[in-house]
Amino acid sequence: MMLSDLRAAFAGRLLTEAADTAPFLTDWRRKWTGRALAVAQPDTAADVAAVVRWCHAQRVAVVPQGGNTGLSGGATPDGSGHAIVLSTARLNRVRSLDPMGNTLTSEAGVTLQQVQHAAQEADRLFPLSLAAQGTCTIGGNLATNAGGVQVLRYGNARALCLGLEVVTADGQLWDGLRALRKDNTGYDLRDLFIGSEGTLGVITAAVLQLFPRPAAQVAAFVAVPSPADALGLLALAQARLGAGLTAFELVSDTCLGLVERHVSAARRPLADASPWYVLIELSDTRSETEATAQLESLLEAALEAGHATDAAVSTSVAQFRCLWALREDISESQGAEGPAIKHDIALPIARIPDFIATTDASLARHFPDLRLVVFGHLGDGNLHYNLSPAPGATGAADRAAIAALEAPVNRLVHDAVHAHGGSISAEHGLGLLRRDESARCKSAVELQLMHAIKRALDPLNLMNPGKLLAPEPTP
Ligand SMILES: Cc1cc2nc3c(=O)[nH]c(=O)nc-3n(C[C@H](O)[C@H](O)[C@H](O)COP(=O)(O)OP(=O)(O)OC[C@H]3O[C@@H](n4cnc5c(N)ncnc54)[C@H](O)[C@@H]3O)c2cc1C
Repeated sequence: MMLSDLRAAFAGRLLTEAADTAPFLTDWRRKWTGRALAVAQPDTAADVAAVVRWCHAQRVAVVPQGGNTGLSGGATPDGSGHAIVLSTARLNRVRSLDPMGNTLTSEAGVTLQQVQHAAQEADRLFPLSLAAQGTCTIGGNLATNAGGVQVLRYGNARALCLGLEVVTADGQLWDGLRALRKDNTGYDLRDLFIGSEGTLGVITAAVLQLFPRPAAQVAAFVAVPSPADALGLLALAQARLGAGLTAFELVSDTCLGLVERHVSAARRPLADASPWYVLIELSDTRSETEATAQLESLLEAALEAGHATDAAVSTSVAQFRCLWALREDISESQGAEGPAIKHDIALPIARIPDFIATTDASLARHFPDLRLVVFGHLGDGNLHYNLSPAPGATGAADRAAIAALEAPVNRLVHDAVHAHGGSISAEHGLGLLRRDESARCKSAVELQLMHAIKRALDPLNLMNPGKLLAPEPTP
């Protein structure tokens, strides 16, 4: 197998020196490190196809990689050293923007933030928004079907994509860059590739949906007595704010305490502590005055109904950002408390209060030394249901102790998720992290269908093998 042939097969870059390839071989959280034959950085979709064709001919595995911010280990090669990491870093052009059709066509390696800026320059909004947006790429967002903070109003990455361009596992280029909102012409190939975590093909470009930019965004930080009251408030907000309701985030008092402890600029917005809070964002196409009036009227109704006990509403952009920072700084603050056990779960919204009550109690019974750190996108039924050790437990022995608890804690939480009709991965995908747990929770027929799709689109099992689905036993 000659790497010089691969170098000659495409016009982009091929990295082979250890110092050059190292950043591509370890994931964002430094949980997994692998090895690779080389890192290929093609310039164009045709170049991607040339790399994949070479890999197909040589029976070499391909690990697609965008910004390498994924949290499930999907973009890291295994330890065999036989794979090519295919980095989309140089597929970095916004190809076109259609303000009338409200679409933007972007190559896969453009960062989410660059797409947001391109939309903004045309007085449009691309609403996908997540903390890794300066580094993560559109290809990665679509391959993981990323979520973030505005899913409630605009949907996840899947809902924001109209068309795709993909290099198939045998190196053919499929041009599915259709800018159509309606297209009922058979199996939806686009939806197969979205969320497939690089296991079916390489996304090289996408047509994305844009929206009008809201005239005003207002936020409220609301004290609520319980998760059930948070749902009562959600129902009120949906009824009164309609499509203006953009985000509805749940934050426990433990989370707020962590942010207060670790972020020096953080200030509690309300005088008295409450066991739970909700952060509501309302965006309005008319004016800030109208948005504020609507939000205040909602909060009055919520106080009257007993779903809320206090609230603070932002009156400036700076205050809006401060309220959001209380939510966005939770992950980093939890990290400062030492090792954590994290779960990114989805549940039918109505079952969330029961899930929290029964799972919290069960964890307290079996793992009394762990603290629950619960927050998330309540409006989407998505919780980050995390656990931290007792305060100060940050030494090597504590790390080893929490690592030993990870598997039994995961099992307890995932069984509870399954029993409540939920999903063990709401927005971070399966990768390596949740691959086997997911197989445990899915029915035999669902797994059989997923393997059939994998076999049909990648019969040689060369596209990101071992991610999302465990390899099938050879007959
Ligand atoms: C601080 C932080 C905050 C985050 N917040 C959120 C959040 O709120 N919501 C959320 O959903 N995620 C979040 N994430 C996770 C991560 O940012 C997303 O999963 C993101 O979509 C990954 O994009 P990426 O370009 O970094 O992909 P990578 O990490 O490079 O790859 C992720 C997966 O996609 C595959 N892939 C990448 N590019 C392609 C391509 N062009 N074609 C085919 N397959 C490809 C890879 O093989 C891998 O399986 C967060 C991560 C961090 C570090």
